Amino acid sequence: MEQMTIQTSTKQYPLFLGEGISERLPELLKTLGFARGTKVLIITDGTLETLYLSELVSLLHHDYSVYTHIIPSGEGAKSFENYYACQTAALAYGLDRTSVILAFGGGVVGDLAGFVAATFMRGIAYVQLPTTLLAHDSAVGGKVAINHPLGKNMIGAFHQPEAVIYDTRFLQSLPERELRSGFAEVVKHALIGDRSFYTWLKETIHCLEDIKGENLKYCIRKGIEVKARIVREDEKETGVRAHLNFGHTLGHALESELGYGMMTHGDAVALGMLFAVFVSERVYHVSFADERLTSWFQSFGFPVALPTELSIERIVQKMKGDKKAQAGNIRMVLLREIGHVQVETVTDKQLVAWLEEFSQS
Ligand code: NAD
Ligand code: MG
Repeated sequence: MEQMTIQTSTKQYPLFLGEGISERLPELLKTLGFARGTKVLIITDGTLETLYLSELVSLLHHDYSVYTHIIPSGEGAKSFENYYACQTAALAYGLDRTSVILAFGGGVVGDLAGFVAATFMRGIAYVQLPTTLLAHDSAVGGKVAINHPLGKNMIGAFHQPEAVIYDTRFLQSLPERELRSGFAEVVKHALIGDRSFYTWLKETIHCLEDIKGENLKYCIRKGIEVKARIVREDEKETGVRAHLNFGHTLGHALESELGYGMMTHGDAVALGMLFAVFVSERVYHVSFADERLTSWFQSFGFPVALPTELSIERIVQKMKGDKKAQAGNIRMVLLREIGHVQVETVTDKQLVAWLEEFSQS
């Protein structure tokens, strides 16, 4: 089992990574300070309930008072209704300030359960048990949120978990499109912060089938290292944490324009990264042609061209509405070189022109 330390300005906590490590869950919870008999509320989604919940409960029930609450699977679950239902469950089961919530699932479960933990009785402990590759990103850093009909992740908090326990065995059942989606964020972390990891990825990972076993663990570990380094410097997103938004300015606009769920987050971010690279080449007068990013992305099945049904003007309007935009100015994270990004303000006129050129390239 590998162990890392996540350090933020408010808290330090361990991350455990390995295949099959959930078998040690009772022992790990005890080292985290949760005494026998503590009330544990597992929040998970319908898919994971079917696959793994009974084994998780039987692992824990000798030592803890275990309760479960199931939410529907998918982005729609990050709603006020499910948030309310989770709080109701926590109250009905008699959780108190010494209790702990286990967020067992992908980013949706992690964000919702984390926000429940952040606000239940003004904040109780929670532990992330990530089950997707994308969750290497969402389970670290303490951003938790639900969606509002007017915007994604608009209602939330910063609330760091007590630990992240990442058992890669659970990822074996991950559908291909979800593996690809999570891999986009792995690539993002390499591109923004770790040139040698990027080189390793290019040399080692040629298709989705390569992301398993030791390679999978290495992708998770290196991705988390970049994320953790940025979060350590800037927990509350006043500076470098914005670098994590690489590929996301266009990515978020695409997800929103197409309707959430039509394109996975990772697919949208992958296309957004190709566009960010394209803009970087024009702004910094550099060339990434030798990297052959487009053909590498294509070998995983990432989209590499803008969906033709979308209007460029509407995409740009959406980019202006991004949480990270300031006073209507679009802030894009651009690549100076592999491993080194910078935030630039761009005008909508420039963006329209670049998007038109990008869509014809
Ligand atoms: P998800 O949690 O919806 O999981 C994707 C799908 O895979 C779901 O249908 C789920 O039921 C299924 N699934 C999960 N684990 C599985 C497994 N082991 N086997 C089989 N099926 C499995 O989505 P996600 O991609 O993990 O996370 C996306 C969410 O994360 C978004 O809501 C996004 O906003 C959030 N996010 C948060 C942060 C953060 O810093 N808090 C960062 C990135 C993303
Ligand atoms: Mg993302």
